[in-house]
Parts: sequence; C-alpha cells; structure tokens
Amino acid sequence: MTDSFEALRALVAAGGVVVLSGAGLSTESGIPDYRGPSGVARRHTPMTFQAFTRDPLARRRYWARSHLGWRLIAGAAPNAGHRAVAGLQHAGLVDEVITQNVDGLHGVAGSTSVIELHGRLDEVICLDCGNLTSREELDRRLREANPDFVAQVAAVNPDGDVDLPDEQVAAFRPVDCGFCGTGMLKPDVVFFGETVPPQRVARCFAAVERARSLLVLGSSLTVMSGRRFVIRAAKRGIPVAIVNQGPTRGDGHATICVDAPLGVLLPELAGRVGGAAPVGV
Ligand SMILES: [Zn+2]
Repeated sequence: MTDSFEALRALVAAGGVVVLSGAGLSTESGIPDYRGPSGVARRHTPMTFQAFTRDPLARRRYWARSHLGWRLIAGAAPNAGHRAVAGLQHAGLVDEVITQNVDGLHGVAGSTSVIELHGRLDEVICLDCGNLTSREELDRRLREANPDFVAQVAAVNPDGDVDLPDEQVAAFRPVDCGFCGTGMLKPDVVFFGETVPPQRVARCFAAVERARSLLVLGSSLTVMSGRRFVIRAAKRGIPVAIVNQGPTRGDGHATICVDAPLGVLLPELAGRVGGAAPVGV
C-alpha cells in the first residue's frame, strides 16, 4: 500500500492525468455501488433500453421507482473524493474527467471538463422530438399528475431507481413530452442495452490519448463501456493507475493498483502533490 501510494503520488504529481471515475466514487455520497464491497448485488435487473421503449408496464414501473429515487439522488452532495479530484484539476494536474456516473457530482464539486459517458440523470429527453428538459421540470409535472402518490423507499440504486411494490407501481401515472405532447420521455442516460453516442466515445478516446496517465477511481471496469479506455491507454503505453475497493477487470492493464477508500485516499493524495487543496464545501 505504501509503495503503491508513493507510485501513485508520483504519477499524479507529473500532471497530464485523465480521470475515469465510476460508482465507487459516489458511494460515500450515499449512492450505492452496483458491485463494490459496500454494495449488495442489485435486487432487480437494471432497466434495459429495449424494455423501456417497448413495454409500457416496464416504463411505468421505471418512472414510478425513479420518481422516488430521483429525490434521493438530487439530494446527494459531493464527497471528499469528488472535491479532491476538483482540487487536482484546479492545481493543473488533472486535465479531464471521464465519469461513468450519472449523478452530476463532479460538476457540483467544482470539476470542469467533465465528460459524462453515460449521460446525466437530471436531464430528460423526448425520444420522438428530441426536446431536452430538466428533471426538475419533469418532477414537477409528475407530482402534479400523481398528487396522492406516496410510497416508502426501500432502497435506491445508482441509476436513481428504487424498489417498489407492484400495487404502488400500478397507481402511478407517467407523463409524455410537454413540448410535442405525445413523445416518450426518457432520462438522458445510457441504459443497459443502449450504446453511448459515438461522438461522446470519440471525445473520451481523444482525451485518453492526450493523457500522460489514466487514473481510474472507483470502477470495477466490469462493462466494456469504461474498460475500453483502459485497454486503449495500455496499448498506447500510457500508464494506468487504478484506485478501487476490490479487484477490477482492468488490473491486468494497470501499472499501479491501490485498494483503498476514495474519500480517504484522494484527499491525502491531493494534499501530497504540490498543494492541491480540495475545492468546494
Ligand atoms: Zn417531444
């Protein structure tokens, strides 16, 4: 741990770092991980794009659960790990942040140049007319359409989904696009079974190829969506460092692996690389 921390410190102190962050960075903000040691396995299968768009009942279930889960996600605040990343960025050591998280917490913590690989949960898109609206606006409309909808939230998942009994789902009324009037609304996040927009992927690859090093924070790299950047960096001879609790599927490509809680390690790291003080409150 001490040796790998020193290697990590030297790597970050050299600058030119591109960060790739995952759910593990947000667990300390109260957003549970899918697969990390602090997280339990999901109790239900994540919504797929195919089920969402083709099955009205699945869609109703998604919006009913998400209507509740959203408030918990919206109330989450960045943690010491997010603030340390922003501090490293303001110190000029981290150039860009690619995140697999849809919670927007890097931006709230003060990070700039953030590529949100899987989109943002606080934006909603109409699949028919393409109109983008805020989740706040949708939240207001859903509350108006469901004035009596009250449910106990048992658990919230990283995509803002919660567990909810069927009878409460049945009572929920989703709404359509307020702009074109009939279009199907979807949170502007990449669902399972959906591909990331190619231009966004290209921006990520370009960022990785410009990097002096790639620093993975809190991702088990289980899905290729994030792992491909690690593979690309390794192929280009760009050093990869991984900080995660537990092994990852990218460990074989990494030059440094540190198993530590991010909310502890990142502030320590930021404090040891030339006065990069965490920003934000
Ligand atoms: Zn529309």
